[in-house]
Amino acid sequence: MPSAIDIVPAVATRREEATGFFQNLVSKGLGWARKNSLWQYPFVTACCGMEYMSVASARYDIARFGAEVPRFSPRQADLLLVVGTVNCKQAPILKRIYEQLAEPKWVIAFGVCASSGGFYDNYATVQGIDRLVPVDVYIPGCPPRPEQVLDGLMLLQKKVQAQQHKLIDRLPAHPAAAE
Ligand code: SF4
Repeated sequence: MPSAIDIVPAVATRREEATGFFQNLVSKGLGWARKNSLWQYPFVTACCGMEYMSVASARYDIARFGAEVPRFSPRQADLLLVVGTVNCKQAPILKRIYEQLAEPKWVIAFGVCASSGGFYDNYATVQGIDRLVPVDVYIPGCPPRPEQVLDGLMLLQKKVQAQQHKLIDRLPAHPAAAE
């Protein structure tokens, strides 16, 4: 009895090509689902928070992009929105929250303070959150307009769709488990 993979000669003639075809199909489907259901963790520290609220409210309606659900537990979120100035005392907190986010995860730096420290060029302010966590999209502006935020979100959606997704992302086995 031929396997499902062997029945795809119209699309691919080799087993590896057929496997690649199905993997791409699954990846695209997962990418589509993930980009349209981003669950955000808002790490709001300063005045950019007003703009964040504006994006979430009816006029700009972030729900149109499937990203309207803020979760205040990082384990239930996959998008870290860093909104506002981050000072050095907050740095370990931000890092821990990032580490606790569910995989796969993405980060948006919301406003110039989060992106580069903004005009707080001093010893107490983190000069860009990319010194602490990897950032996927930077949104400029002090504060950014809601349209800019939505633009940044759409950029992230494109990035998520273009990534390779797997049905099961297994972490490598812990060395102690092999003993
Ligand atoms: S970018 Fe401007 S509005 Fe946003 S937190 Fe910094 S100072 Fe405030």
